Amino acid sequence: MAIPRIAQIQLTSLHRRQLYGIRGRALPHEACALLLGRYIEKELIARVIRITEAENIARSISSFEIDPELQYCILMAAAKEGLEQVGIYHSHPAPPTPSASDLEFMEFNPCVWIIDGIQKKRFRMKAYQLWQGFLISVEIKQYQL
Ligand code: ZN
Repeated sequence: MAIPRIAQIQLTSLHRRQLYGIRGRALPHEACALLLGRYIEKELIARVIRITEAENIARSISSFEIDPELQYCILMAAAKEGLEQVGIYHSHPAPPTPSASDLEFMEFNPCVWIIDGIQKKRFRMKAYQLWQGFLISVEIKQYQL
């Protein structure tokens, strides 16, 4: 299925806390996780239902890599529950803007990318989608299950 254009990604407060934990465990390396959920296409919304931590096999402070076999297994299991990958999360020891290599990978993974980076000395999450060659900001909104 083609990935739709998304204007808003929805997370619960628990998801946020889970991501903070994933980020902390990976330090000093970049952390990464797959955001599984559903698209509400008509409203341009991606709703996260479940988050799966994925080890950064690059073990790097400036890039991340998810084992493609692990990713495949996670996505197959998610599909059985009717969930798909709606986003990718990773952290930066730098501002939350896509790096040159992020932009390259975003072309092949045009879902929503949440980047948790440092802005004014604090971590801050920003979301983007590379849509038909354009980098678009995606709103992050809290929802309740
Ligand atoms: Zn990055």
